[in-house]
Amino acid sequence: MGMAFKGDVCPKCHSNDYVNTYTVWHGLLAIFWFPVGLIGLAFPIKKCIPCQTTYGVGLQITKIVKILAITGIVFVSLLLLIILTKIL
Ligand SMILES: [Zn+2]
Repeated sequence: MGMAFKGDVCPKCHSNDYVNTYTVWHGLLAIFWFPVGLIGLAFPIKKCIPCQTTYGVGLQITKIVKILAITGIVFVSLLLLIILTKIL
Protein backbone atom coordinates (compact mmCIF):
# COMPACT_ATOMS: atom_id res chain seq x y z
CA MET A 1 0.00 0.00 0.00
CA GLY A 2 2.76 2.40 0.90
CA MET A 3 4.27 2.02 -2.55
CA ALA A 4 1.04 2.80 -4.38
CA PHE A 5 2.38 6.10 -5.68
CA LYS A 6 5.72 4.78 -6.81
CA GLY A 7 4.02 4.13 -10.14
CA ASP A 8 7.02 3.25 -12.29
CA VAL A 9 7.41 -0.30 -11.02
CA CYS A 10 5.07 -3.18 -11.86
CA PRO A 11 3.01 -4.06 -8.76
CA LYS A 12 3.14 -7.74 -9.68
CA CYS A 13 6.70 -8.53 -10.79
CA HIS A 14 8.45 -5.25 -9.79
CA SER A 15 9.95 -4.80 -13.25
CA ASN A 16 10.31 -1.25 -14.56
CA ASP A 17 10.06 -2.34 -18.18
CA TYR A 18 6.77 -0.91 -19.40
CA VAL A 19 5.09 0.72 -22.37
CA ASN A 20 2.55 3.55 -22.20
CA THR A 21 -0.83 2.58 -23.61
CA TYR A 22 -4.16 4.34 -23.98
CA THR A 23 -7.75 3.14 -24.14
CA VAL A 24 -10.22 4.05 -26.86
CA TRP A 25 -11.79 6.35 -24.25
CA HIS A 26 -8.57 8.34 -23.96
CA GLY A 27 -8.74 8.91 -27.73
CA LEU A 28 -12.43 9.84 -27.71
CA LEU A 29 -11.86 12.20 -24.79
CA ALA A 30 -9.05 13.93 -26.69
CA ILE A 31 -11.25 14.31 -29.80
CA PHE A 32 -14.56 15.32 -28.24
CA TRP A 33 -13.15 17.56 -25.56
CA PHE A 34 -10.41 19.00 -27.77
CA PRO A 35 -8.20 20.68 -26.71
CA VAL A 36 -8.90 20.19 -22.99
CA GLY A 37 -9.31 16.43 -23.47
CA LEU A 38 -5.68 16.13 -24.52
CA ILE A 39 -4.92 16.25 -20.81
CA GLY A 40 -6.04 12.61 -20.65
CA LEU A 41 -2.97 11.71 -22.71
CA ALA A 42 -0.84 12.85 -19.79
CA PHE A 43 -2.17 9.83 -17.88
CA PRO A 44 -1.23 6.74 -19.88
CA ILE A 45 -1.85 3.22 -18.67
CA LYS A 46 1.44 1.50 -18.03
CA LYS A 47 1.71 -2.04 -19.34
CA CYS A 48 4.42 -4.26 -17.93
CA ILE A 49 6.40 -5.89 -20.73
CA PRO A 50 7.44 -9.10 -18.89
CA CYS A 51 4.06 -9.95 -17.28
CA GLN A 52 1.52 -7.79 -19.21
CA THR A 53 0.04 -6.34 -16.01
CA THR A 54 -1.51 -2.91 -16.47
CA TYR A 55 -1.06 -0.30 -13.78
CA GLY A 56 -0.48 3.40 -13.12
CA VAL A 57 -2.55 6.53 -12.72
CA GLY A 58 -4.09 6.10 -16.17
CA LEU A 59 -5.67 2.85 -15.11
CA GLN A 60 -7.14 4.44 -12.00
CA ILE A 61 -8.70 7.32 -13.93
CA THR A 62 -9.99 5.25 -16.86
CA LYS A 63 -13.49 5.22 -15.35
CA ILE A 64 -13.49 9.04 -15.20
CA VAL A 65 -12.01 9.28 -18.70
CA LYS A 66 -14.80 7.02 -19.99
CA ILE A 67 -17.57 9.06 -18.35
CA LEU A 68 -16.11 12.33 -19.66
CA ALA A 69 -15.68 10.88 -23.15
CA ILE A 70 -19.32 9.71 -23.25
CA THR A 71 -20.46 13.11 -21.97
CA GLY A 72 -18.46 14.76 -24.75
CA ILE A 73 -19.95 12.47 -27.41
CA VAL A 74 -23.50 13.15 -26.19
CA PHE A 75 -22.85 16.90 -26.03
CA VAL A 76 -21.38 17.09 -29.54
CA SER A 77 -24.19 14.89 -30.92
CA LEU A 78 -26.86 17.12 -29.39
CA LEU A 79 -25.11 20.20 -30.71
CA LEU A 80 -25.00 18.72 -34.23
CA LEU A 81 -28.66 17.74 -33.93
CA ILE A 82 -29.63 21.28 -32.92
CA ILE A 83 -27.57 22.77 -35.77
CA LEU A 84 -29.11 20.34 -38.27
CA THR A 85 -32.68 21.06 -37.17
CA LYS A 86 -32.00 24.80 -37.52
CA ILE A 87 -30.75 24.32 -41.07
CA LEU A 88 -33.53 21.95 -42.20
ZN1 LIG B 1 5.13 -7.08 -14.28
